[in-house]
Amino acid sequence: MLRELHEELGIPTEYGEAGGPPQYEEALELVEVGLNLVGRMQRLTPEAADRWHAMVAAAEADGVTLMIVSGYRSYEYQAALIRKKINAGQAITDILAVNTAPGHSEHHTGLAVDIATPGSRPLTEVRCRTPGGPSPEPRGTGRGRFGRDRA
Ligand SMILES: [Zn+2]
Repeated sequence: MLRELHEELGIPTEYGEAGGPPQYEEALELVEVGLNLVGRMQRLTPEAADRWHAMVAAAEADGVTLMIVSGYRSYEYQAALIRKKINAGQAITDILAVNTAPGHSEHHTGLAVDIATPGSRPLTEVRCRTPGGPSPEPRGTGRGRFGRDRA
């Protein structure tokens, strides 16, 4: 399935080879954790959902509102993000500079969450932290109170 998707999108065959973003399986068990800013229901694995809710509650107690921007993404959803940009006339090489190819986003695991706070700058980069790759997104500080940082 991934191979066909990559072929369709024109993703170079060497993508994901040595030094590239690792491949992730799609999560098998997901629970809904709430709507994102554009009203799309977001899902995480049950364990990640528990930690997310705990983090939201702890932040709220400190007077900070956390909002989910993006949680789980299927391979097909990641492909759709890229397809939309291709249809808008962007080159695949430019797209891959900011979006990971289907199969290589940590969001497939259901353990990654993109977070915003009210009034924060809209997220324009959707590529996530991956070992060996640059990260346009803010990084966490590693293992924190709520488990391993995978955002
Ligand atoms: Zn992300």
